[in-house]
Amino acid sequence: MSSSQPKVGFVSLGCPKALVDSERILTQLKVEGYDIVPTYDDADVVVVNTCGFIDSAVAESLDAIGEALAENGKVIVTGCLGKKPEQIRAAHPDVLSISGPQDYQSVMSAVHQALPPKHDPFLDLVPDYGLKLTPKHYAYLKISEGCNHRCSFCIIPSMRGDLVSRPVDQVLREAERLVRGGVRELLVISQDTSAYGVDVRYAPGTWQDRSYATRMKDLCEGLSELGVWTRLHYVYPYPHVDDIVPLMAETHDGMPKLLPYLDIPFQHASPRILKLMKRPGAIDKVRERIARWRGICPEITIRSTFIVGFPGETDAEFEELLDFIEEVQLDRVGAFAYSPVEGAAANALPDPVPEALKQERLARFMALQADISADKLAAKVGSVQRVLVDALDGDLAIARSMADAPEIDGTVQIQDGFDAGLKPGDFVDVTIMGSDEHDLFALVAPQDD
Ligand code: SF4
Repeated sequence: MSSSQPKVGFVSLGCPKALVDSERILTQLKVEGYDIVPTYDDADVVVVNTCGFIDSAVAESLDAIGEALAENGKVIVTGCLGKKPEQIRAAHPDVLSISGPQDYQSVMSAVHQALPPKHDPFLDLVPDYGLKLTPKHYAYLKISEGCNHRCSFCIIPSMRGDLVSRPVDQVLREAERLVRGGVRELLVISQDTSAYGVDVRYAPGTWQDRSYATRMKDLCEGLSELGVWTRLHYVYPYPHVDDIVPLMAETHDGMPKLLPYLDIPFQHASPRILKLMKRPGAIDKVRERIARWRGICPEITIRSTFIVGFPGETDAEFEELLDFIEEVQLDRVGAFAYSPVEGAAANALPDPVPEALKQERLARFMALQADISADKLAAKVGSVQRVLVDALDGDLAIARSMADAPEIDGTVQIQDGFDAGLKPGDFVDVTIMGSDEHDLFALVAPQDD
């Protein structure tokens, strides 16, 4: 249709925050009349959105740039690794331009220079919710950039700067557009969701004739008006997280106001290690808080991440972590062996844990959590759950319950999904028939209508 249009190839690497950056750049490219093409051969220029969080991500980004240069030759680099231009230039001196995360302007200038736009407003219409890289029925909603914390293992603040919150009315309008475009689940992301609005002193904004503060709880109240699932990610364990848990137990038009799901990285359970990490160290308070949240909303799913083998972690401190995991029985857990990210303050700490020991600890940690997860999922057998269908796979419909975030958690595999005529984006009630360590197996439940 628009074969005479200039053509851009796009490689998107990294976390959901980088994905949102990619979506913004792609939307802008489309608005300006560029075709987005899927192969290097078809592209006139290639944009690579990189990740620079850990060493393996740096290597993957450098490889992706190398591949794009070899296959196409004209490459524009952006994203987190763009904060280290010398590292990119050392490996790939021929890239056309390098910019950091959220620097849409620089990416667009570089594209304009390499490939002047040819805008045809009749051919290049963009839906008003922009272009999305996720399936049509769920979308990431980025509410802020940067972070005011200085966790010693993390270089995000040095790459992305201090917290900058988006005005609440702007976020709510974006969410509204996404829902109009078919989105059924909003995944709220940031570096630190619970700090939302601190930088702007919780400034008020107006949406649908109502005033909302730029604050996590108000944002959740506003999103609950949209009649879709809202899931919170990257919630820092502040005391005021308590304020939003009651919303998870409330419904609005039959939908939970906020999904009973909290992605809250605790990182460790030893007060000394937490202190070295520059994270809140009052682990007893965390225990109390988890019990309180479960009291308010018994069906809450708590997901967390942990780092094992942090510099100086002793056998006893690692056992403390295992005891904590055993005791609090979190629903979903991710763990990483400590990896010294270039530029992180923690690298200077004494007594690094040898690699083999880190891996041994990680394996023990994951084995324990696998047992916990298997028991937790087995307890759901026989229950009826509302799920959201993501895809069809032969006879199966692959769906997720309120307890499952896309990409990182398990799935609910509906055995009779095809026969029941399910489609991606459908909500349906299912009866859980079986389970394993990660996933649930279900049949469509008799529907009420
Ligand atoms: S809260 Fe998260 S983004 Fe902020 S410094 Fe800590 S780990 Fe990094």
